[in-house]
Amino acid sequence: MADRTRDPDCLFCRIVAGDIPSEQIHADDLVVGIRDIQPKAPTHVLFLSREHIPSAAEMTDHDGPLLGRLFAAAADFARAAGIAENGYRLVTNIGTWGGQTVPHFHVHMLGGRSMSWPPG
Ligand code: 5GP
Ligand code: ZN
Repeated sequence: MADRTRDPDCLFCRIVAGDIPSEQIHADDLVVGIRDIQPKAPTHVLFLSREHIPSAAEMTDHDGPLLGRLFAAAADFARAAGIAENGYRLVTNIGTWGGQTVPHFHVHMLGGRSMSWPPG
């Protein structure tokens, strides 16, 4: 497994550490939730791993607790934000063609409007 300690050059490591301000909507020992700075839907938040993991492509069997926690935190937030009933989208982009711009694992939550499929 690659080194997952904090990368001082990584934007999301710096946000997790509190060095760069963000509007936090969730925090626990594994996951931090923040509002996206350029929202693409009425509700657009990001759930970040505290560890520096470049993308979902680097997950292993050992990441079960992280992923379970992340999805549970996301579902709790959706209920609290009032978007659970209508539904919402969770998505994680991987690499250039996947549309990933920040190479630190995160899951987008987009809600508050109807989503189209397939994505562009
Ligand atoms: P990706 O393109 O890697 O899937 O998602 C990165 C997301 O991070 C984008 O939706 C982008 O708007 C968001 N983002 C980029 N820089 C910042 C920042 O400094 N603060 C916050 N809260 N979000 C950011
Ligand atoms: Zn990072």
